[in-house]
Amino acid sequence: MIVAANFKTNHTRASTANYIEALELFLDAYPNSCDVRVYPPATALLRADLSAHVKVGAQNFYPAISGAYTGEIGAEQLNEFEIKSVLIGHSERRVTLKESQELVAQKYAFAKENGWEIVYCIGEPKAVRERGLGAVMEYLWFQFEGIDTNYEKLSIAYEPIWAIGTGVSAGVKDIAEVLSALKSELAQTPLLYGGSVSVDNLSSIVSLDSCGGVLVGSAGLDAANFCKLIQIAQNAQKR
Ligand code: PEP
Repeated sequence: MIVAANFKTNHTRASTANYIEALELFLDAYPNSCDVRVYPPATALLRADLSAHVKVGAQNFYPAISGAYTGEIGAEQLNEFEIKSVLIGHSERRVTLKESQELVAQKYAFAKENGWEIVYCIGEPKAVRERGLGAVMEYLWFQFEGIDTNYEKLSIAYEPIWAIGTGVSAGVKDIAEVLSALKSELAQTPLLYGGSVSVDNLSSIVSLDSCGGVLVGSAGLDAANFCKLIQIAQNAQKR
């Protein structure tokens, strides 16, 4: 079960260090089988190889080792921190930062070439959701254009855009339908859900057969709350 926190543009280098320290202390005292990941901003990246339990990953990178890409970071910068886990395709990058499917696919190919673990995000806008499951799946499959889904270090995060940061999660039935449809084509790939996951809805989401974990934004910003999410996820998989 993957339990991952995406900090987005939140936390500083100092507060991230405190957060990881708190999480490590908690995980020392609470052995569990969750694959715990934290994706801080690039300026707050910590040496991933120095955390015993938490996998530190990157929210973003440019698909190049180094070079003339003003404002971006490449493999050289991530390697300095031993980063081996990345997010690709988050809707905030696709929509707000205008990342095309072509660029997303280039980033994916580059991450794969480097052997990084990928959490590949997909999700539909509200207007598509309103047209029903068929329209949602058609939209989501397009987001796999140029993506090698046979990559063994891939996890997919289904994150309906309208559920991200809104406090309104998708319904468990809707999540179940989408994850099962994805599972029918991607049997070997862990499937995560993201979109207003909280201590109140996490258990019912991770209890779904096709759900292999969660990617959380807001609910993961506070270390103590994120620890609660880990406990809930662990208990749900014991049942
Ligand atoms: C996210 O951005 O990946 C996310 C799921 O955010 P939130 O949990 O705040 O909806």
